[in-house]
Amino acid sequence: MSLDIRADAPLPEAVGQFYDRFVALDPEALASNMHYGYWESPDDRRSLEAAGDQLTDLLARKLELGPGRRVLDLGCGVGGPAIRLARTTGAEVVGITISHEQSRVGQALVEKEGMADLVTVAHGDAMELSYPAGSFDAVMALEAIEHMPDRRTVLSNIARVLRPSGRVALTDFFERAPVPAHKKQAVDDYFTKFMMTWVGQIDAYPGIVRDAGLRLCSLSDISEQTIRRTFQQMPRSVEDRSRKQMDDRNSSEMDQLGAAATGLVDVWELGYLLLVAERPGQ
Ligand code: SAH
Repeated sequence: MSLDIRADAPLPEAVGQFYDRFVALDPEALASNMHYGYWESPDDRRSLEAAGDQLTDLLARKLELGPGRRVLDLGCGVGGPAIRLARTTGAEVVGITISHEQSRVGQALVEKEGMADLVTVAHGDAMELSYPAGSFDAVMALEAIEHMPDRRTVLSNIARVLRPSGRVALTDFFERAPVPAHKKQAVDDYFTKFMMTWVGQIDAYPGIVRDAGLRLCSLSDISEQTIRRTFQQMPRSVEDRSRKQMDDRNSSEMDQLGAAATGLVDVWELGYLLLVAERPGQ
């Protein structure tokens, strides 16, 4: 496996349509995190939602944000993490998503939350960033790059829009060990249902970061703190939502997504990484 494009990887437009549908399926998730939780240790008893905020806060700390800083949130969902970033650090946040529906409800959420001075959510494609060079102090890509067809292009685009000494923090999936044959179906199901491109090896990242013109600050395996506990809790929270407010068709679509996640509970071979890199100074 490599970090190259998977032959049948979904194109950004199809990923956008998937998230459009997701917004329609689960209006309650509008203000919430669309990423895994982060639990510091087995004794950390936070709820999935609180642990999700904790992962956002962890990336925010790595980005060294504060008032006057300008952040690009690449693959921002409906803006929950962008709003949190702005609230907790005072930084300005520009969020982009490939889903037109997410950008619409995300911008409405920003306004409802009274954060329009600091946060915007718009439609945009991380594969074709048109912002001027050096126009951001930081870039966050929280649980989004796995949907993008080519990590090299994304990292190069990030390097271009960062100012010198600006930082990027991102999460991604990787293969901790070869997935044994009897678990492959579960991984394929998850990747297909959630429109992911491909999973690579953590060792590929230093080269990709270097080729993009960035300097690697840290690269860590955070699977135990994130993905493993989330898969144990996620299906339950999806079911709760289904029961609350969905008609039968939506509920069964949601159940299928939940089932794809349940299937991964025992797949410890699928890992989750946190990468921090910096554009070298002048
Ligand atoms: N970061 C958010 C959302 C994660 S879901 C959160 O943590 O809550 C993945 C997000 O990546 C979605 O918003 C999806 O639209 C976005 N995405 C996927 N491919 C993209 C692309 N090529 N360009 C921009 N956004 C993309």
